[in-house]
Amino acid sequence: MPSKHSGPGKPGASTQAVWGGEPPDSPHGATVAPVYHGVTFGHEDLAQWRAVALGEQPGHIYSRNTNPTVELFENKLAALEGAEAATSFATGMAAISNTLFTYLSPGDRVVSIKDTYGGTNKIFIEFLPRFGIDVCLCDTDDHDQLEAEIARGCKLVYLETPTNPTLKVVAIERLARAAHAVGALVVVDSTFATPVNQRPLELGADLVVHSATKFLGGHSDAMGGVICGAGRLVEPVFHFREINGASLDPMSAFLLARGFRTLELRIERQNHNASVVAKFLRDHPKVDAVFYPGLADHPGHEIAAEQMRGFGGVLSFSLKGGFDAMEKVVMTLKLAHKAASLGSVGTLAGPPATTSHVELSAAERANAGIPEGLVRYSVGIENVEDLVADLDQALGGL
Ligand SMILES: *Cc1c(COP(=O)(O)O)cnc(C)c1O
Repeated sequence: MPSKHSGPGKPGASTQAVWGGEPPDSPHGATVAPVYHGVTFGHEDLAQWRAVALGEQPGHIYSRNTNPTVELFENKLAALEGAEAATSFATGMAAISNTLFTYLSPGDRVVSIKDTYGGTNKIFIEFLPRFGIDVCLCDTDDHDQLEAEIARGCKLVYLETPTNPTLKVVAIERLARAAHAVGALVVVDSTFATPVNQRPLELGADLVVHSATKFLGGHSDAMGGVICGAGRLVEPVFHFREINGASLDPMSAFLLARGFRTLELRIERQNHNASVVAKFLRDHPKVDAVFYPGLADHPGHEIAAEQMRGFGGVLSFSLKGGFDAMEKVVMTLKLAHKAASLGSVGTLAGPPATTSHVELSAAERANAGIPEGLVRYSVGIENVEDLVADLDQALGGL
């Protein structure tokens, strides 16, 4: 399927995911590059060793800094996002916190939205203020308020779209323009979209961040995080991370790269499955509301249709019976892991109160507009008729 984001002659997403970042000199001609578990890398020439250590020559010194397997995963992601450089982390939260702590200093101001991922929100409300950083969190769908707060001046604009768990959509291009007018850096958490559905750099973002734990790896068997963008913007974050130490380990990098090769296939299937499930739920009499940007009546639908190529594999819904109905439906689902996280080949379901937003108090969740009776449903690659039948039996039990 041709991407409207790729220019003429550029390889498609799956071609880049399969071939991007692969080493030209795999030992023994192995078609799958080995996992370099080695912590340290030897050098026989002191001048060359020094040049590598200073970053003047390619090569590796110590795996907290760089590692060939980790680099392979980073290069694949950079290829697909159309980025000059990428650097990776032990988790998505490490990617986010390292980026924020690299670019924000006491006295700086950051503008963001109320609906960021629970852990990110915690950084904004608990940690950054301790370091004398002024945090301004706007209503996620109020673009006028966001523009006005950005125009008052800030160092960094932090966006996430679509958001977790109510799938709000933020206009990247519009807010990047506002941010650049005051010289602010624009960081976008694009975890829910993946580079198959959304390329924030092409919409004006400076840095893109992903929890690779989710769709990029896609199999719920490895944790990781990654940021990408222009080399001069990624380099300071790499430097902060190599000193602070939240590095991605080679085995996880191998698993993430392995999952990454099938990203487009999985995302196309998940886009389709989610839209079928969303329509089924919307028409079900026991369902109160469905949050999915692919539905025409979703408040973010128009912006999503403009800036995304597909609407993603995550949706959420609330039930007319409130919290008790939510508990009953979730616990009688058969084809879903009742578990945190999202973006896996297997469907995952759970309430935000015990998953993405467990770090927040009930009051903080209410303030973020998250109903306690919400079900977040991350659609896997199963056959969608089976998922619909499963939801139908669970809702039928109400
Ligand atoms: C899961 C998630 C994170 C955090 O990633 P971890 O790998 O769990 O640390 C950040 N942002 C979004 C949108 C997420 O879904």
